[in-house]
Amino acid sequence: MGAMKMMTEKNLTKTDLEGWILDFAGQIIEQHLVLSDLDAASGDADHGSNMERGMSALLKSVPDWDEVATPGEFLKEVGLHIVSSVGGSSGALYGTIFLRMARAVGDAPSINAGLLSAAFEAAAQGVAERGKVKQGDKTMFDALAPSVQALKAELAEKKSLSEALASAAAAAEAGRDATFDMVARKGKSSYARQNSRGFIDPGATSAAMLIRSAARTLG
Ligand code: ADP
Ligand code: MG
Repeated sequence: MGAMKMMTEKNLTKTDLEGWILDFAGQIIEQHLVLSDLDAASGDADHGSNMERGMSALLKSVPDWDEVATPGEFLKEVGLHIVSSVGGSSGALYGTIFLRMARAVGDAPSINAGLLSAAFEAAAQGVAERGKVKQGDKTMFDALAPSVQALKAELAEKKSLSEALASAAAAAEAGRDATFDMVARKGKSSYARQNSRGFIDPGATSAAMLIRSAARTLG
């Protein structure tokens, strides 16, 4: 543990996380019609509007972010805002993502690569538990799970956080694309059964956007 390592290891602060969430909110607001169109294919066409409502509510809370001191408190604020403003399954599940990350990070003053990876892993596991899903069920978990695997694998190979997050985002996008051929087994899309095949899952699309935003802002 020399000074070199301490200088090269990137530690993320609450401000870095704010940048991530602002970027993600911007992406969602910009793409919400696309997300609802994807949901129209086999669901109820509201994924984009659900997420857009949540992100707009979140942006209104930006002035309060100064009162939040640690990365963990910030992630908790984001999670609670999403739970209270996003309707549908995705509200509870995106809330879970941020609340589980908050719990994993605890009261750490900053987040290093290992802790970020652990927090993402806890988030994906939270979605699997709360949503009762596994890979292949055609949900957001199909984007999250491979991204966590990629992140862990890259960091284990001593890649930089920036490289590891870029791989995680690419893995999330590949996972999103793989939902095209899947039949939905959970959520409203599962009512369409075989008819859900041939469309990309909306939640996997927004989840891939979340990881791409992380790669863009935290790397
Ligand atoms: P709703 O399904 O209630 O209309 P949204 O349309 O906002 O909510 O979100 C739909 C997305 O939520 C799906 O595309 C899928 O990715 C995700 N989802 C739905 N149910 C589950 C579940 N049980 N576990 C994980 N993800 C789920
Ligand atoms: Mg829906």
